[in-house]
Amino acid sequence: MSAPSQADILAALQSQGSLRAKNPPKTVPHAHLASSAPDSLTNTAAEGSSSSTRTNSRKLYCPREGCSCVIIGPGAAEWIEADASLIPAEEGSPFTNDKITPSRGYWFVTGSPFAFDNIGFSRAVEVAEALPASAPGVEGATGRVKWLICAECDLGPLGWSFEGGKEAWLAVDRLRYEDK
Ligand SMILES: [Zn+2]
Repeated sequence: MSAPSQADILAALQSQGSLRAKNPPKTVPHAHLASSAPDSLTNTAAEGSSSSTRTNSRKLYCPREGCSCVIIGPGAAEWIEADASLIPAEEGSPFTNDKITPSRGYWFVTGSPFAFDNIGFSRAVEVAEALPASAPGVEGATGRVKWLICAECDLGPLGWSFEGGKEAWLAVDRLRYEDK
């Protein structure tokens, strides 16, 4: 058997690429939906229910354009509001906390990590070094902070969780959304 030629390898790579590009999910950045949020991002509870819980109406994706990693499916996270820009925006990170139109929206996830389609976690960081005392979950946290990161490309932090905890929070402006 002869070794594959470079042309064969290139052809194989190209066909892989075209397979992958065939059905890329249609996603939009948060900025395109922010002005009509939360209505553009949430469903309210079913009619007749006494709950006023709003859940995500769209699939949530990694914010990196072209990554396409699904973070969580529709209906799996609850819309909550808290102080804007709780997650640090480090220098050189693709996230810049928007000082002009900061988002107060966060996706609250219970049953972590099983509620996620795909999620990664950072190494643990001391709570006081990671989050302000006003951040949801900090009061009563018994473990250190583990940042949520993309399971495929490691981009983050997209949100936070606590060691040993089953709850997690995603910043609504650090995700891409299913286009529909
Ligand atoms: Zn990613």
